[in-house]
Amino acid sequence: MFDSRIQVEQVRLDALRNLNILDTPPSESFDRITRTAGRIFDLPIAAVSLTDADRQWFKSRIGVDHWQIPRENAPCSEVSEFAGTVVIKDFQDSACYRDSHLGRSGIRFYAGAPLVTRDGHALGALCVLGTEPRDATPEEISALEDLAAMVMAQIELQHAFGRIDPVSGLPNRNQLLDDLEDLARDKADKACCVTVIDLISAVDLANLLRVAGPSFLDDLIASSSRSVRQTLGRTSGLYHIAATQYAYASTGQDLEELFAETLQVRAGLLADSRLAGETFSITPAIGLAPFVLGKAAPRDVLRMAHSAAQDARDADTGAGIYSLALDEAHRRRFALIGRMREALVRPGELWLAYQPRIDLRSGHCVGAEALLRWNHPVLGAVSPGEFMPLIEQTRLARDVTEWVIRSVLMQAAEWISLGRNLVLSLNISASNLAEEDFAERLIAAVTSAGLPPSAIEIELTESAIIEKGELPIEHLKRINDAGLGIAIDDFGTGYSSLSYLEHIPAKVLKIDRSFMKTLGSDPRSSTLVGAMISLSHDLGYRVVGEGVETEEVYRLLQQLGCDEAQGFLMCRPLPAADMISWLEERSLPPLPLRRLADLSNDLHWN
Ligand code: C2E
Ligand code: CA
Ligand code: CA
Repeated sequence: MFDSRIQVEQVRLDALRNLNILDTPPSESFDRITRTAGRIFDLPIAAVSLTDADRQWFKSRIGVDHWQIPRENAPCSEVSEFAGTVVIKDFQDSACYRDSHLGRSGIRFYAGAPLVTRDGHALGALCVLGTEPRDATPEEISALEDLAAMVMAQIELQHAFGRIDPVSGLPNRNQLLDDLEDLARDKADKACCVTVIDLISAVDLANLLRVAGPSFLDDLIASSSRSVRQTLGRTSGLYHIAATQYAYASTGQDLEELFAETLQVRAGLLADSRLAGETFSITPAIGLAPFVLGKAAPRDVLRMAHSAAQDARDADTGAGIYSLALDEAHRRRFALIGRMREALVRPGELWLAYQPRIDLRSGHCVGAEALLRWNHPVLGAVSPGEFMPLIEQTRLARDVTEWVIRSVLMQAAEWISLGRNLVLSLNISASNLAEEDFAERLIAAVTSAGLPPSAIEIELTESAIIEKGELPIEHLKRINDAGLGIAIDDFGTGYSSLSYLEHIPAKVLKIDRSFMKTLGSDPRSSTLVGAMISLSHDLGYRVVGEGVETEEVYRLLQQLGCDEAQGFLMCRPLPAADMISWLEERSLPPLPLRRLADLSNDLHWN
């Protein structure tokens, strides 16, 4: 019995707190009602008094100085507890109220009507107080109760404002989050599923708004919400959580059934003629996030459902169920992209490893390729093969390449000062070639570092050059004219059409390491690589074999006339500091003969 009273009080307090009205500023819309109550009773004191755990807090008050009084022995608390009107004709006649806070401050009369929510919770009272004993007429009481109902309407209106989407009239995201909290309380440990319907991709939405304007969106919402409700066959429970997104929560249905239902929702949306114009059509993607009530925070659940919808959109499956693995992959990607800007300015987080390039005729190290390394503070060492493709899709590609160029130039200058004449090559992203000033900046950086241009080579893939129109070729011409080296990376994996090569002023082709794998074992492979090498030589290229892991491949490349090799067999990518000792440990003389000859026109160098 005692327990259930505590429970009832807890639910009442939750209802009060959910309305977010406690400790909010006074407002004329409430004060107006309070004044009217005082006037009807012809009394100087009146208040809208809410019953919190241990205080009566006044949302509105006249004739009272305090914002709150203790709840103990406050008549408003009695109104809340019994959810009925209370009239105390004379405090002096009541043992309980005579010595109460109000009684001691001279109050003799009290009338309070309960503030009851639609769900039946009494939050407090609209009350009038007097310093003389008196009675209340039935008319006065009924007016006070009417005014209390007006206070409640005002409270609920204010609460609904900001919880209902003005366009669709549907409850919004905040309401969904609150309702999920309530569900977790009422049905703890039961299975639940939140479904998110995303009508159109963010990019399409932006384009649509630009072309058709915002009123068009209103029509889209009106039609789509009608369609979803019709398919679901329910009039309530649909939330409008973002401009073109809906959600609903389901309990007691199994996942398969729910999934089938989402496919119907999607089919319904796609079949709706109001949602397909000549210039656009919606592309609904639906995500389901199953979870156990009370075991996951509503915000996380919503994020999971969003993530599932996004995956469904990306994979073009229309609808999908939340997958932890996919989500973790997204979060990892997000963590990588999100951290890069900081990594660029934090010393030590990014660094360059150098992998030697060996001249196959002399066996000398003639250069090294700079390979980016990242020690992510949370994820540890991350491979460029993972983060570069992500970074390349963002504007960060410019800054990352800028960082690499700066670091390579500094390293080149240091090694030159130590008498090590190595050609350093660095990797350039496809998107760098779309930067208007790319060539200009690169050339200027090399010049201002005081380096001979031939000490630097850039590596690009075939697709980077071909897919970006004319600009890359213009850049490459300028870079070549300035005397820097240009190498085509991963040769053989992309277009491999020799006809386009004549437009590219590259001097070096790096045969992709996938060709080295079968070089020893498959005779056709050596025929192919041999043909690539001799054809490239005919066209005037210097050829590098990448990914050389075995002596056999090294020897085969030598026999096939390949110029240079790079691979784990000779050396793994090394920190700059280890490069010099590696060079020293090699028995061969460190100065490259052949490459140096190429550089001999830069006499001031060295
Ligand atoms: P890539 O340009 O083709 O670089 C060669 C990759 O092959 C490097 O991987 C290198 O460590 C690896 N490798 C070298 N020798 C061997 C071998 O014998 N066997 C095998 N299995 N692998 C070998 P890494 O450093 O993980 O880089 C991967 C890719 O990331 C690079 O491929 C390049 O496309 C990109 N990347 C690396 N650094 C940069 C950079 O600074 N800027 C840009 N834009 N991309 C970069
Ligand atoms: Ca490369
Ligand atoms: Ca490569």
